[in-house]
Amino acid sequence: MAKLTFLGAAGCVTGSKYLVEAAGKQLLVDCGIFQGSQELQDRNYKPLPVDPKTIDYLVLTHAHLDHTGWLPVLAKSGYRGAIFANPATIELTTILLKDSAHLQQEDTLHARIHKDSRHANPEPLYTSEDVDPTLKLIKTMPRSGSFDISPEFRVTSYDAGHILGSSSLELTITEGGKKTVVVFSGDIGRYDQAILKDPATPPSTADVLICESTYGDREHPEGDPAELLAQIVNRVAKRGGSIVIPSFAIGRTQTFMYYLRQLEDQQRIPRLPVYVDSPMALSATDLYVKHKEDHDLEFTREEGSDGKGDPLNVHEFHLTRSVEESKAINDVKKPCIIISASGMISGGRVLHHLVQRLPDARNAVILAGFQAEGTRGRALQEGAKSLKIYGQDVPVGAEIVEMGQFSAHAGKSELLRWLTALPAPPRQTYLTHGEPAAAQALQAAITEKFRWKAAVARYMDSVPVGE
Ligand SMILES: [Zn+2]
Repeated sequence: MAKLTFLGAAGCVTGSKYLVEAAGKQLLVDCGIFQGSQELQDRNYKPLPVDPKTIDYLVLTHAHLDHTGWLPVLAKSGYRGAIFANPATIELTTILLKDSAHLQQEDTLHARIHKDSRHANPEPLYTSEDVDPTLKLIKTMPRSGSFDISPEFRVTSYDAGHILGSSSLELTITEGGKKTVVVFSGDIGRYDQAILKDPATPPSTADVLICESTYGDREHPEGDPAELLAQIVNRVAKRGGSIVIPSFAIGRTQTFMYYLRQLEDQQRIPRLPVYVDSPMALSATDLYVKHKEDHDLEFTREEGSDGKGDPLNVHEFHLTRSVEESKAINDVKKPCIIISASGMISGGRVLHHLVQRLPDARNAVILAGFQAEGTRGRALQEGAKSLKIYGQDVPVGAEIVEMGQFSAHAGKSELLRWLTALPAPPRQTYLTHGEPAAAQALQAAITEKFRWKAAVARYMDSVPVGE
């Protein structure tokens, strides 16, 4: 009988990896890196319970690193099968993995110089040289519709509205003449957001549903994101401060650029210099413009019928590529906006921007994404008075602003809306990609609202998926 093992994103929001074993074959859905607490990060260095050489196929729901960032380790450990993804996901994954290797090398170098690692000789999980052999394994599958990975596995993709290329996947397993359907929600996006289409629920009668629960216990705040952003920008600019937005270069960066550009054009905010401090931000933004198949109608209209509109470009845009250019931003004393990774402040260049800007009460830090347990982002969210960065205590003087309106994840009622659209109750539902309180709250809501059998997935547990 087919079985499914939760190799990640069970009891936490990162490290998504689901192993499906059926008809003597093994398929991995997603291959994400663990982020957050030290205990979670340590899992990235442990081998899988299954030999990567014996895994036959891999399919990706979307490009975020917590779904793709472990691929180079898998390839280094002997995985030689195909990695299937749609065109936008392939292009985003390519730049994300290159950037991830680059940032890990930068961070390792920094840790060695400042001797602030727990390890005597810190090593990156992988380097740029490991990325190319990984990318060679990637094969294209269609953005929508059905695709046969093998005689045993067929996947059908539905737009999940979370980031460019993001999908929910319906996996049909054929074993001994019988078919079993497993639906993977992937990360579910927001309804009525800027740029991307709304999430679509697969019209499948699922035997088993694997559903994310990132915001299973929370709603996003109400309120017009553009108006809120205008208020913050004006408030901070008036007091001569700067804004730091910890964010990865993909997804949220484009959303911020979209709203900032709109507000500039409507003269609701001053035209401040916007520094996007990531070597890959421009390529990511180009991909957002290029992949029109994912655009919602409003974005298509703003681009204009000639495609010459430029809704993702602010007026004073600066892109920094090198470390030197990044450090030079420290000399900018007039009001500016700095968008820099990582989004949860667990590493990356945002660290040195915060060392510089966090103590000053004129500045603001906007937290827009999910902040996992154990990260500096979560500490800021919970009102920390100082943050430990590069081994020193950096006092928090800046205004900390949470803007859940910019989240790329469905809130609780949006998850329930997505579930409501399923045509029939799954025989079993497992809740993944959520911290324990979030997963349990969604489990309770599903039991109450739909009376379905739902369980919270447990790390390394295997469950049967056939009858
Ligand atoms: Zn994601």
